[in-house]
Amino acid sequence: MNDKLDLNEFHWLLAIVQSIDVGVVVLDRELRVQVWNTFMENRSGRQPDEVHGRPFFDFFPEVEQAWFRHKVDSVVTLGTPAFTIWEQRPYLVRFKNYQPITGQEEFMYQNTTLLPLRATNSAIEHICLIIYDVTNVATNKQQLQTVNQQLQHLSRTDRLTGLNNRGYWEECLQHEYARHRRYQSMAALVIFDIDHFKRVNDTYGHPAGDKVIQMVAEVIREQIRDTDYAGRYGGEEFVVLMPDIDSSGALIFAERLRKRIEALLVTYENQTIPFTISLGVADLSLPTDGHKQLIERADQALYASKKGGRNQTTCYSA
Ligand code: GH3
Ligand code: MG
Ligand code: MG
Repeated sequence: MNDKLDLNEFHWLLAIVQSIDVGVVVLDRELRVQVWNTFMENRSGRQPDEVHGRPFFDFFPEVEQAWFRHKVDSVVTLGTPAFTIWEQRPYLVRFKNYQPITGQEEFMYQNTTLLPLRATNSAIEHICLIIYDVTNVATNKQQLQTVNQQLQHLSRTDRLTGLNNRGYWEECLQHEYARHRRYQSMAALVIFDIDHFKRVNDTYGHPAGDKVIQMVAEVIREQIRDTDYAGRYGGEEFVVLMPDIDSSGALIFAERLRKRIEALLVTYENQTIPFTISLGVADLSLPTDGHKQLIERADQALYASKKGGRNQTTCYSA
């Protein structure tokens, strides 16, 4: 009676292994296939009698042999399971992905468990691979990451110019200022404002004004280094934070920018729009009590440039 029950249970287990939606493979110590369930049959297109007794690597040349053998050895030696997850290796064996919802991925992402199988004498002569299809999880996570990156970029970027927006630029300044406080590092700030911009809008129209602002941003991008932080600070006000540069270096940059913009020919609907900028420069060589003070000083210098007749650069001095 008991034997009959055991046999029933054995058949049930077999049915479960066959119909379960994960890959089940049993390998012997020479890595030859002993068990191959329906999932494996369907995904690989190979029948159990075709693979039985043959080396696992014959069917999956993509598996890195040294790595896999090492993994199996440790499972056998320690008698404990081992795992690989898709974040480390996207898959153990390359199967096509044909899930309708996540059809954009070419292959099936997998998590795999390697299980030691003990014989009745408790020796481990076989190991079981359990292969989970985690394509849904992987693609969802990757899509989420992509969207998050796009969102982060959007939240930091000024729409009209593609420069850093004021909020994010101020975060960069705070960060740079903290570095200055800790390591006494130098930094300079250039702030500038388009001269008589109201006139540009009034004469050529608001869209023409927008184009002028965009062209200024282009010139900035062209002139700065990768390590500089450029931002649109206000309507027609821009800032460039230059780490490890002092006022004299920033002044050279500011003058180059001013001359480039003075010579710039922005055309809008066949009209050429001449314009200039006024600039202010400050650095961290004088004592400050916060990052805002650097902005205030550069702004004071900018104001002096405006008062001095525009189209010029002023360095802050106490
Ligand atoms: P100043 O030389 O003293 O700087 O003179 P200004 O005319 O540039 O002075 P002000 O700063 O008062 O004027 C800035 C103008 O910029 C006012 C505003 O309508 C315009 N402006 C702000 N943002 C934008 C924008 O995104 N697009 C356009 N086209 N104009 C803008
Ligand atoms: Mg202004
Ligand atoms: Mg202005």
